[in-house]
Amino acid sequence: MIPIAKPFVNEAEAQAAYDTILSGWITQGPRVAEFEEKFAAYTGAAYAVALSNCTTALHLCMIVSGIGPGDEVICPSLSYIASSNSILYVGATPVFAEIDPSNYNLDIKDVERRITPKTRAILLVHQIGMPADIDAFTQLAKKHNLLIIEDAACAIGSEYKGKRIGSHGDLVCFSFHPRKVISTGDGGMITTSNKELAERLKLLRQHGMSVNAAARHQSSKIIFEEHVEIGYNYRLTDIQAAVGIQQLAKLDQIVKERREIAYQYHEAFSKIDCIELPYEPEGCFSNYQSYSVLLKENCKVSRNDLMQQMMDAGVSTRRGVMTSHREPAYAHFCQNVSLPVTERVSDNSIILPLYVPMLQEDVQKVIEVFTRLVS
Ligand SMILES: *Cc1c(COP(=O)(O)O)cnc(C)c1O
Repeated sequence: MIPIAKPFVNEAEAQAAYDTILSGWITQGPRVAEFEEKFAAYTGAAYAVALSNCTTALHLCMIVSGIGPGDEVICPSLSYIASSNSILYVGATPVFAEIDPSNYNLDIKDVERRITPKTRAILLVHQIGMPADIDAFTQLAKKHNLLIIEDAACAIGSEYKGKRIGSHGDLVCFSFHPRKVISTGDGGMITTSNKELAERLKLLRQHGMSVNAAARHQSSKIIFEEHVEIGYNYRLTDIQAAVGIQQLAKLDQIVKERREIAYQYHEAFSKIDCIELPYEPEGCFSNYQSYSVLLKENCKVSRNDLMQQMMDAGVSTRRGVMTSHREPAYAHFCQNVSLPVTERVSDNSIILPLYVPMLQEDVQKVIEVFTRLVS
């Protein structure tokens, strides 16, 4: 069975975790600090703050943005549910906007239509690694005095106008779940250019504690900590960070190989007229965290039948990106939400296997099976 995804981890990550365990310092400490420094350097951001995962990262971004009850945040429903959950965590209301079916990112015209006096922010998701049009959204946000929080869970290594995602905005959240391009098991990161925001995030991730463990450890004088605000335990461990440092060193190679496989798919599928292939807009460079294909109305096979037939042929697939507004947990406030484009894209797209390293014979098998079943 060809899997849908696979983390690219080996002896290097195992050794780093082993060494960290034997070092005696196993949660947020020197390896987390090193991972943050290297991550900031990689993305081109001034600061990086490590968190336990991207969901907790998004939650803290809502808090430091001062978003709360009575506020609205515009976001896509076509996303992993954690995106809109982070808005609900602070008592604010997610307002779902449509997406552009060519790149799965927010449709800026629809976003503008949904701005109200209560709107505080736009949660800009770089869906499955494809950068959203950051400049256009930044302009729109300025015009209406809104904040932008970027959900770049899938977009490490992607670029917008020649600069890596993480370097453009003030609050950009990344995930290191195994389904993403690099992994620490679980893990997250926020990049920012704002020193005050970085410091507040570091406070909030560790119970609102005024002195962190490393500072106390290094001091020759006794230090007593204070808890200056209600914080959380959203720490990344040093064991995870040590794995992340190794993963970061492989990232450019991973992105290069992912793009090569994506191009093989593009080329092989370009003549099939009942599908729409992923489209990389001018100025965007995707890490192809997922390769999602949209089946058009004239497709002879339904998406679900196609998934079953591919599984029968030994190829795992996944349905396209989910919608949040149709989940049972959202039913109480989404009864009247109408998002026809979002629903059509979610219900008719299929994600194909793409991972590194992927055997050429497996790439060819995916191409052969998919082509045979849809054309
Ligand atoms: C995976 C994902 C998340 C959640 O990331 P975790 O690290 O698992 O918390 C949030 N948003 C998007 C768009 C994702 O794909």
